[in-house]
Amino acid sequence: MNTKALHKISYSLYVISSKKGARLNGQIANTVLQTTSEPPTIAVSINKKNLTHESIRESEVFSVSIPSKETPLKLRGHFGFRCGRDIDKFKDINYRVGTSGVPIVLENVIGYLEAELIDSLDVGTHTVFIGKVISAEIIEDKEPITYAYYRNIKGGKAPKTAPTYNERDNKKEARKMGKYVCIVCGYVYDPEKGDPDSGVQPGTTFDQLPEAWVCPVCGADKGQFELVKED
Ligand code: FE
Repeated sequence: MNTKALHKISYSLYVISSKKGARLNGQIANTVLQTTSEPPTIAVSINKKNLTHESIRESEVFSVSIPSKETPLKLRGHFGFRCGRDIDKFKDINYRVGTSGVPIVLENVIGYLEAELIDSLDVGTHTVFIGKVISAEIIEDKEPITYAYYRNIKGGKAPKTAPTYNERDNKKEARKMGKYVCIVCGYVYDPEKGDPDSGVQPGTTFDQLPEAWVCPVCGADKGQFELVKED
């Protein structure tokens, strides 16, 4: 069996938000799909360990915010690599509250869907939540960010709780000269690409990065990076 065939499935990146009591929370997910059109329903696969999972179970409502292609890695890091149990993810984020009371991210977002839970399926590590769309809007007519674009152009990585996470592939991909990997989130700094979100030009080596530079995904400092060694 060649599980690499799974990598040929295309995805986008989304912020899935919900609420638990008064607590708002959101996380990144790439597994969102439309399941029917009449009525419009959507499905999303959420890791059982995540706070968003508890929130959707309790409130039975969730939203899907769709980031643009220009979205900085920072937004991904904010929602993808931090736990809503430790921080209020909406504290410094531009958002609005939808008709069901769930938050909708407005920063770098081109549209959103808000859904009421109608069913769920236990798939082991994750639950697939199915929701009926109760509101939807286009905020900006731009292209969404695809998972392939995020990985290849932006150098982003999947967190360990993502359904598509594969540690061996991440390490193999990273074993190239001159690259440094963030030991917190797995982001790989590639000198050939630089870090355009933070104004770092392509061709800047890791040593040339300013001391104040931090991981664009999770915010870890330079001390949390190690050189990726070749075999
Ligand atoms: Fe990081």
